[in-house]
Amino acid sequence: MALPVAEWQGRTARLWAALEPALRERLAAASLRDAVRLGCDLLRSEEEEEAALLRLCLQARTDKQPEAAGWYREQGNREFKRGRYQAALRLYSKVCLEDIARAESHGYPDRLLPKVLLRKAECLLCLERLQDAQDILSVLESKIALDGVMTTHLTQLKKLSQLKVKLGEKERCPEPAQEARGGIQGKPEIWEENNRISGASSSLSLRFDAERGRHLVASQDIVAGQSLVKEEAFVSVLCPGESLPLQDGATAWDTRATNADLYCHRCLRQLLASVPCHGCSYAKYCSQDCADMAWQQYHRTECSLGALLLTLGVFCHVALRTVLLAGFAEVSRLVARSHCGDKNLQNPEARCKPLSEAADSGADSRGIPGCGSSGRYQSSYQALFHLLPHTEQHSPEHKFLCTLSVVAICKKLQAAGLEAAVLNQESPQQRSKTKTFEKTSDELSPELKTVAEAMLRHVLQLQCNAQAITVMQDLGPGDGAVVDKKPVRLATAFFPVLSLLNHSCCPNTSVSFSGTAATVRASQPISSGQEVLHCYGPHWRRMRVVERQQLLHQYFFKCRCRACLEELESGVKSVVSIRNSFCCPTCQAQMQEEEDTLCCSNEACGTSASKDHLSGRLQDLQQQIKKALDLLSVGKADQAIKMLLKCQIDAGTFLSPEHLLMGEMEDHLAQVYATLGKWQEAARHLKKSIEVVEMHHGPSSVEVGHELFKLAQILFNGFAVSEALSTIQRAEGILSVHFGPQSAQIQELQEMKACLSELPRNILQRT
Ligand SMILES: [Zn+2]
Ligand SMILES: [Zn+2]
Ligand SMILES: [Zn+2]
Ligand SMILES: [Zn+2]
Repeated sequence: MALPVAEWQGRTARLWAALEPALRERLAAASLRDAVRLGCDLLRSEEEEEAALLRLCLQARTDKQPEAAGWYREQGNREFKRGRYQAALRLYSKVCLEDIARAESHGYPDRLLPKVLLRKAECLLCLERLQDAQDILSVLESKIALDGVMTTHLTQLKKLSQLKVKLGEKERCPEPAQEARGGIQGKPEIWEENNRISGASSSLSLRFDAERGRHLVASQDIVAGQSLVKEEAFVSVLCPGESLPLQDGATAWDTRATNADLYCHRCLRQLLASVPCHGCSYAKYCSQDCADMAWQQYHRTECSLGALLLTLGVFCHVALRTVLLAGFAEVSRLVARSHCGDKNLQNPEARCKPLSEAADSGADSRGIPGCGSSGRYQSSYQALFHLLPHTEQHSPEHKFLCTLSVVAICKKLQAAGLEAAVLNQESPQQRSKTKTFEKTSDELSPELKTVAEAMLRHVLQLQCNAQAITVMQDLGPGDGAVVDKKPVRLATAFFPVLSLLNHSCCPNTSVSFSGTAATVRASQPISSGQEVLHCYGPHWRRMRVVERQQLLHQYFFKCRCRACLEELESGVKSVVSIRNSFCCPTCQAQMQEEEDTLCCSNEACGTSASKDHLSGRLQDLQQQIKKALDLLSVGKADQAIKMLLKCQIDAGTFLSPEHLLMGEMEDHLAQVYATLGKWQEAARHLKKSIEVVEMHHGPSSVEVGHELFKLAQILFNGFAVSEALSTIQRAEGILSVHFGPQSAQIQELQEMKACLSELPRNILQRT
């Protein structure tokens, strides 16, 4: 969650409402510095609030259940036997974490861990993730070396050597597919970095004007798929986020793995055997290197604050980590500059002379806020500090909530004796100076007030500038036949260069992530002089203009993109409303909305129905579909098919054929047939699903790319060679534009293609 937990939001709202009107006015108009000062005074006199926050933190602590690990292990074994390696892998990950934590808290080496790691390696071998399997085996070997062979079971040693042999075999004679790597798609992308903007392509230039603020424009013609920005996040924080079901059905244990169980706390890589932090149960790392680096850079300060940071939300956490990464010297320098009337910060518009040609030739971009003295815009703390906090536009209540939250964190830092770490004061003399201040007053030290002020700025900036880092996560049964992927929010980050891109509901770029690095690619040709635009979330193909404008409200601007103008001014109907419409139960013509009723568009028919009635039917239908999927998950595929076919017939009587749900049902049917190995039926249904997805998201959208990827897998499994090859080609064309030719998806497609070209020989050999 980006913002603090609801209880804390409620408390601060009540506190705000109870303030003297005069004080409220002062707070509403306060600068960031004054807001922090007033916030400190308030939180000092309201001890009750601090106590309440402490109580809330207790709730955030996740208790360990001592027997859980055993249960996960059992479930993992069950999934493994069913061939559901993806699900098994998640369970084994959870066991490793539980066991390590348990072993540590009880002070005894856990005998069971090697067994779990062996199973996990076996799992990875089945999934053909050879490098990952290799990594696990190395971890295991070093563990055995450490514990001594005596304590390790002999059967485990045997298993380990067996797995090593198996791995060696697989590596020596890879499946034909493996040879495809480094083929046509393997060639590196053309990339020339801009000499005025770090991490940006030389085909872009930075502009600035009153209406659009800072923005990026194509300085030459750009082709679809070309990389435009490659930037490492200045700071990122893993979101606890939604959790993935580890297995189906309700049980006594938490069967969900959260992001923190699955990804490295620092670099966001997927965890195999994790290295947990010694001080807390929250931070888990991919390697000792990551653990050491994170400790050095920020975690020694954050470690004991875990519960408070979870309670106050990801934005506060990002704000804290930002100042820790920047270092106190840089933070105080920029905060001080902001006080003595830095024009860039106070009023960026004051500087807004058109810089077009001058900036292009590189003569002078010094006037653009965030640029260094050399006129270069860099992904640095200075650039981040200059992102707009929109101090005046936030509601006073929201500013109040952010102020109290940030002050609470700084007070906790002081109380926990972490001030020296925050201020990077390592020498004893400096430390003693801070200590004396602590003794004489429970007020925040001036240095921590500076830190709080910078943090408040960052929390406010995040509302407009937070970038979600997403990954494609495997869904579905994970039986290896058909992999379904969905984007999942992994972390919240600041990307100072990426933040230069303005929003459009019909953008001309697409963003993808690898670890903490973002790549922006042109999703269509962009001609020289055109602005490069990025969608902040509300896309015209997914939302109506009213919903989009509502969402964009948080960014304090009214979108004037082509799609918004068309829908708002020319009355063009949103694709969303056209395609999610009902059809007439009598004659199947489109239904039209007239207040609370829907009327058949065919005048001769004249049927009408209440909106509530049809919405109710839609809900029933969704319930039925869910039941069918439940049947599938317990292995009753035949019954699931029957149920889905019935749903389809029912849906046909009141949903328009283009309705998204019609596509989803086809997709589910394809999934069921795939689990039965009925590839032709699966392909037939998936093609219908693709038609609907294409109508909703456009033929070159990521969504269609993923559907084609699934179709390719189905055709591949069904030996439909020529069709599979042409589908692979289409999927490649679309996915490489969005994710680049080096992405995992493209690699997988390449492997399938290579395998198919080997196929005739293989079949001949078999017969
Ligand atoms: Zn890592
Ligand atoms: Zn820790
Ligand atoms: Zn728009
Ligand atoms: Zn009709």
